Amino acid sequence: MDRKQRYKSQDVHVTCIVPVHNEAECIGHFIEELDRTLTGLVGKRSLIIVDDGSQDDTVAVVKKIAEKIPLKLIKLSRNFGKEKALSAGLDHVEESSDVTILIDGDFQHPLTTLKKFLDKWTQGYDMVYGLRENRRSESFVKRLLTRTFYEFMSKLSEVPLPVDAGDFRLMDKKVVSALKTMEERVRFMKGIYAWVGFKTTSVSYQVQKRYAGKSSWSFFSLLDLALTGVTSFSSIPLKFWAVVGSLIAGISLSFALYMVARTLLFGTDVPGYASIIVSVSFFGGIQLLSVGILGEYIARIFQEVKRRPQYIIEEIHNTNG
Ligand code: UDP
Ligand code: MG
Repeated sequence: MDRKQRYKSQDVHVTCIVPVHNEAECIGHFIEELDRTLTGLVGKRSLIIVDDGSQDDTVAVVKKIAEKIPLKLIKLSRNFGKEKALSAGLDHVEESSDVTILIDGDFQHPLTTLKKFLDKWTQGYDMVYGLRENRRSESFVKRLLTRTFYEFMSKLSEVPLPVDAGDFRLMDKKVVSALKTMEERVRFMKGIYAWVGFKTTSVSYQVQKRYAGKSSWSFFSLLDLALTGVTSFSSIPLKFWAVVGSLIAGISLSFALYMVARTLLFGTDVPGYASIIVSVSFFGGIQLLSVGILGEYIARIFQEVKRRPQYIIEEIHNTNG
């Protein structure tokens, strides 16, 4: 049977993965709404809630709701970050699940989009990502920085990264098993989704207001994400310094030849103090910068070779039957 028929006869198994970090205020209500939405749409549904080291009552709230609504709660031992939480969820998707959907637990991703995602899946797409139509709920600076970053990345990266695409997406089981083979520890999910390929399309949606609570991202965590993105999907920053280095070496060589010739022809005059200081500090600066960039890559290599697990699970609470 093809996807359309199976979807019509409510024979599709959908898994939703919701990463949560300090969402006690909205998660209960969210799970109820999500469950209601899925009930009308698909035959079999599984909910995977990944608690990413919440400090508030999130776990208690989820366990309470799990008495009514079958779900699997994966409690991580501390806050590992949303990307790791998503990996934990993906690792627990059942074999029988046809489709997996990643969605935030704060109502910012509208539940009405799920139907549109599934429609695209029945049309044969293996990956459907949500395209943010408005980012008005985010500050101007955040929007500007995000935009600049993606434009910069699309020039650097080996695979094009769609701008305004986030983690809100649907994936066929093929994509999920491909993602599971990616063993890198340093995970820049947006890059990884693009890297695995498959027939992909997008559905645009309006970012909703947060239902409650506040965004867990800080400026520095976003900066770190950006650095991870660049260093895991491009080696151009490294090559850049090789080019700069050879250019400077070339210029220095011609300058040296010129100096030798001038000294031989016209004898020495008192050399300029200013030019020496300028070149010493200029090259000092360039060297530190390039060593710094090398360091970024080495740090990522270090994290990979340690081969630590991506996350640690403290507890799994399963009422899924
Ligand atoms: N989240 C998480 N771990 C974190 C930060 C966030 O699991 O360290 C979850 C959070 O609970 C929410 C989703 O990831 O369900 C998106 O987070 P948030 O709303 O803070 O980010 P934004 O919507 O601003 O991108
Ligand atoms: Mg949010």
